[in-house]
Amino acid sequence: MPELPEVETIRRALEPLVLDESFIAIRLVDPAISRGDRERLQTGPIGRRITGVLRRGKHLVFALEGGKGLAVHLRMTGSLLLREPDAGSRVRAVLVLSNGVHLYFNDVRRLGTLEFLDDVEALFGRLGPEPLSDEFTVDLLHAQLSRHRIPVKAALLDQQIVAGVGNMYADEALFLARIHPMTPARNLDISPVTSLWKALRQVLTDAIASKGASVSTYALPNGEHGTAHFGFNVAHKKGEPCPSCGTTLQRMMVRKRGSYYCPACQPPSGDNTGG
Ligand SMILES: [Zn+2]
Repeated sequence: MPELPEVETIRRALEPLVLDESFIAIRLVDPAISRGDRERLQTGPIGRRITGVLRRGKHLVFALEGGKGLAVHLRMTGSLLLREPDAGSRVRAVLVLSNGVHLYFNDVRRLGTLEFLDDVEALFGRLGPEPLSDEFTVDLLHAQLSRHRIPVKAALLDQQIVAGVGNMYADEALFLARIHPMTPARNLDISPVTSLWKALRQVLTDAIASKGASVSTYALPNGEHGTAHFGFNVAHKKGEPCPSCGTTLQRMMVRKRGSYYCPACQPPSGDNTGG
């Protein structure tokens, strides 16, 4: 599933191709891709100059003149490709640009959405802080987590607590910070929160540098794959030895999400003897 590093990678790839151009057609192969009014989606963005490609959390937004926008949410399996994908894929929409560029919204699981935004800021206001922004401090993360008794793993996935983190990078960050995924968020004091803050920024920054993780269907617009998953310590590595201590990595369900962790490096809270 595309998380912050994957969406940021797509943003960086697309922006130079579409800046100052405009959409000339929004073709809906699968009308269910439209979030909100379908006709507005197909007419609202047309002819407006694209002033930038933005990312907030896992959302990609083509910023259009007048404060409007076209929001793309890739969800589980969505991708935006510059060439029509092979048979067996599932193109749900085609975005046609004034310079002839075609963007194919490919999405096997059909959970992704397109939405015309009257006001880009309204979407952004619904999301929590960006973890790589200056605004995101240790104190802010501590304050966000202290309001929740849910497991810290679930808290990291809540887009209102911190935007853009999903299952893979939450597991990687908790491993680096040596925090058990079931630890109640509000039980973490400033020391483990500081470790978690550093770990989150590290795993996200490293993953952007590797152009995201292609563990599933994720690809860059040109079809290239990211390599961030080759650097993973625990995510998707059940049964393999912990790279730090050699203990067999495990997978447990936390609020219906598979969570990978090392039972030795990440002991349950209260059981951390510091040895
Ligand atoms: Zn370990």
